[in-house]
Amino acid sequence: LTAASGGGIVAYADSARAEEAPEPPPRKKKVVVLGTGWAGTSFLKNLDSSRYEVKVISPRNYFAFTPLLPSVTCGTVEARSVVEPIRRMFEKKGKDVAYYEAECFKIDPTKKAVHCRSAVGTNLDGNGDFMVDYDYLVVALGATVNTFNTPGVMEHCHFLKEVEDAQKIRKSVIDCFERASIPNISEEEKRKILHFVIIGGGPTGVEFAAELHDFLVEDLVKLYPAIEQFVKITIIQSGEHILNTFDQRIAVFAESKFQRDGIELSTGFRVIKVSDDSITVKCKSSGVETLVPYGMAVWSAGIGTRPVITDFMSQVGQGKRRALATNEWLRVPECDSVYAIGDCSSISQRKIMEDISTIFKVADKDNSGTLTLKEINDVLEDICIRYPQVELYMKSMHMVDIADLIKGGVGDSNKESMVVNIEEFKKALSHVDSQVKTVPATAQVAAQQGYYLADCFNKKDHCVEHPEGPLRLTGSGEGHHNFRPFRYKHLGQFAPLGGEQAAAELPGDWVSMGHSTQWLWYSIYASKQVSWRTRVLVVSDWTRRFIFGRDSSR
Ligand code: FAD
Ligand code: MG
Ligand code: MG
Ligand code: MG
Ligand code: MG
Repeated sequence: LTAASGGGIVAYADSARAEEAPEPPPRKKKVVVLGTGWAGTSFLKNLDSSRYEVKVISPRNYFAFTPLLPSVTCGTVEARSVVEPIRRMFEKKGKDVAYYEAECFKIDPTKKAVHCRSAVGTNLDGNGDFMVDYDYLVVALGATVNTFNTPGVMEHCHFLKEVEDAQKIRKSVIDCFERASIPNISEEEKRKILHFVIIGGGPTGVEFAAELHDFLVEDLVKLYPAIEQFVKITIIQSGEHILNTFDQRIAVFAESKFQRDGIELSTGFRVIKVSDDSITVKCKSSGVETLVPYGMAVWSAGIGTRPVITDFMSQVGQGKRRALATNEWLRVPECDSVYAIGDCSSISQRKIMEDISTIFKVADKDNSGTLTLKEINDVLEDICIRYPQVELYMKSMHMVDIADLIKGGVGDSNKESMVVNIEEFKKALSHVDSQVKTVPATAQVAAQQGYYLADCFNKKDHCVEHPEGPLRLTGSGEGHHNFRPFRYKHLGQFAPLGGEQAAAELPGDWVSMGHSTQWLWYSIYASKQVSWRTRVLVVSDWTRRFIFGRDSSR
């Protein structure tokens, strides 16, 4: 109490002094960050917090390194090793960062405030609700699981989204083995209990299947030799191939490795119902339904929208979208000062055809009604920054320069002397928008967006004073700053496949598979740890596993 009132007096004295001064320092703007996942923490780590008063709201007071969650499910890595306390991350940031362990349940963009509910206890009103106002809001709430309203999934399936989920899975796997070891259980019952089903053949489902398989063959079969023969792992995938966001070569490699390992792949099947001991699947081609008895099921078939995001989207008129739409600067265009990053958001890339007349006018400096190649080249860089699809289109059509693209519109004319009118210009660019790409819902994207947005916040003042930039082309968008729009840089992706093998897709169409790729995976994931503490923990977990195997106690 003394400390608090002391602070109050100091604050009062400060403000009194400020009134006498000719120009009081401007109040620091309040930045509220919702979520402490990949996007939120990347933003916070890179934000110059001396410029802002920062408040962070999240029901979990730690950051979770999600790529290692599948390893937690089988005890390859301990849960503690993949989390970093949020308050520890802010230690160095000083006192201008406050953290509240609470859940935001409503965003009110008209009052510029968020409504929150304490996750730890209640306040004096008894319900634990409170309101926090903001000047800038950064929404980084991530996504939730998506059951596609399949009956029984919520009640009977495990998910793999949070650290608690991974711990529950670990306990449940061991449970199944102990249950199947009880005497007087029929063979059929044993087979059922030891049937592990993974629904969804994306990277998470595949990696979990691989972990589970390693856990079984490296550790559990030694401990439960009597029931080894009854164990089965099945992946149910509605598409024709697993890992369909990866290069085809990787999907093929993974499928044949799983076949050798005895992991069953049921591709082309959709789960339509889950009960406590069986899963109903429907063959997509024949329409035939089958009952699959199981002991444990993990649902990893897609991500869904959090209710608070759905509510916010309907408030700002974004209707029934899956994710909150932002412009290329990651701002929610319908409201003032609200930004969204990571899995809860998606960028709407502006189409070039919507702005084509404006672009033509800006480029046509001499007002001749036609563009020369030089006039086009003068604005080309700005065009490519504002509309990355132009570059992607030219690349996909193997075009060397803009003249190739324009010539397609004006027919066979000499490059240097060609001139185009507005109709020809429109025609030449008419297919470009087909190359608009959406960024995937990954940690890589979330982290890059957080970093980019913090950079924008750090430079805001400077940019207000220097408003030139690629926006002069269209005059729309952010108006008064000169940031380049966010551009995702894909650094590749990994798929650990078990048995010390992994597959990787790296920039430049480079695919690598096998044991050496697993070592690359170890080193990259060790280096990506957020702190030396977690890095040491993770590496020592790996070492411990190599030497002693996994811990199979529940
Ligand atoms: P999250 O990281 O999910 O963070 C959301 C945050 O919001 C959390 O802190 C949460 O507690 C908080 N929150 C939730 N609700 C509220 C609320 N109402 N109020 C306040 N705060 C709230 N991506 C890769 O690139 N590579 C991989 O190898 C990879 N492996 C993965 C493995 C698994 C098992 C999973 C589940 C995901 C994996 N991903 C991977 C995807 C990656 O984790 C996500 O894309 C990433 O976490 C998205 O970051 P985010 O900040 O948007 O959301
Ligand atoms: Mg986040
Ligand atoms: Mg996270
Ligand atoms: Mg996103
Ligand atoms: Mg001209």
